[in-house]
Amino acid sequence: MAHPNDVTLRSFIPVDTASDFPIQNLPYGVFSTSESTTPRVGVAIGDSILDLAVLENEGLIDLAPARDIFAQASINAFMGLGAEAWSRTRARISELLRHDNPELRENELLRSRALVPMARAKLHLPITVAGYTDFYSSREHATNVGVMFRGKDNALQPNWLHMPIAYNGRASTVVVSGTKIRRPRGQLKPPDAKLPSFGPCKRLDFELEMGVVIGQPSAMGEMLTERQAEEMIFGFVLLNDWSARDIQQWEYVPLGPFQAKAFATSIGPWVVTREALQAFRLHGPVQDPTPLPYLRQVQPNNYDLHLDVTLRAAQMNAAVRICQTNFKYMYWSSVQQLVHHASSGCAMNIGDLLGSGTVSGPDKHQRGSLLELSWNGTEPVELAGDITRSFLEDGDCLAFHGWCEAEGYRVGFGEVEGTILPAE
Ligand code: CA
Repeated sequence: MAHPNDVTLRSFIPVDTASDFPIQNLPYGVFSTSESTTPRVGVAIGDSILDLAVLENEGLIDLAPARDIFAQASINAFMGLGAEAWSRTRARISELLRHDNPELRENELLRSRALVPMARAKLHLPITVAGYTDFYSSREHATNVGVMFRGKDNALQPNWLHMPIAYNGRASTVVVSGTKIRRPRGQLKPPDAKLPSFGPCKRLDFELEMGVVIGQPSAMGEMLTERQAEEMIFGFVLLNDWSARDIQQWEYVPLGPFQAKAFATSIGPWVVTREALQAFRLHGPVQDPTPLPYLRQVQPNNYDLHLDVTLRAAQMNAAVRICQTNFKYMYWSSVQQLVHHASSGCAMNIGDLLGSGTVSGPDKHQRGSLLELSWNGTEPVELAGDITRSFLEDGDCLAFHGWCEAEGYRVGFGEVEGTILPAE
């Protein structure tokens, strides 16, 4: 049987070559419809969603002794079955969708129950987020921010080249794409003000990131090898780490971001499996100084994954692209982040979400936040006509897209989108 990543595979469901969801992808999500309002697990194929709860119930996907794994409002139970079950299930779904397999293709009744037009589905948060940690692993991003706030000579803090820096974020406010984002309030103290005040954030920003979804746990006290960490990663999602720069500036000393990042984090509805991204792996930037032994890696743990950001102000008809970059630039890989996360003895859980950190590249148009694109407001970004942005305004709609390109198809992530609502 052909591997589900085989480039020659075709589905009996027509898939446009520009679609994010060919048969070689098969990302997992959670959806419901107006006819059937109970959220359940599906995979995206072309413009449709394949309802895995229906297929499991009909015995076409067998996860025994586990039962009702897909008739659930998150993919956590499925992730808990482990890497062997992930691979076996993906291979079976691929087989069922293949153009030369009549099992589903010729069963009209089953097809009508199991295939849902994506346009008619409501997409939900795909995972129950156990914990959320946000890293800071792009050298270009950390350098840009450092230059703006500390000057060229002290841009990178002394620890940055020795370990993946991170803070523990909030799982409680991770929301799915499409959720509107209320402008946060907080303590503000501009540098020229004598005393802080409390009010709506005036410097609201986005951070373009990828999220890693952890599919297997590690025990408290246990360190991870590169191989073990890799095998715990179920897949990746688009992630927007909404950031209140003015709240952050006043609160972050000495323990790092708190309320500036806690009000919302948006993730895409589709979790693309690590297995589907296999062909797009590559080595990251050379790490000099050589990391300590526990952080050294031999595998190509980065990904050639294109990313872009579009912004549409309320008075604009069409969105404008404001950033185009690539996940491959990250200095610390997701595997190194996970190894480091567990290195003290910190237990990892099924459903943990690790933000990569803002993905910025070496060029100006590759900067993954407005803070960098507008250089802290000194070079406003031109959108259309006389509309410019230093930071986000009410009514702004922001969307990220991510995709890996192969010959004749792409393995994509859909989008993560959010519109800013005025403060309450
Ligand atoms: Ca971040």
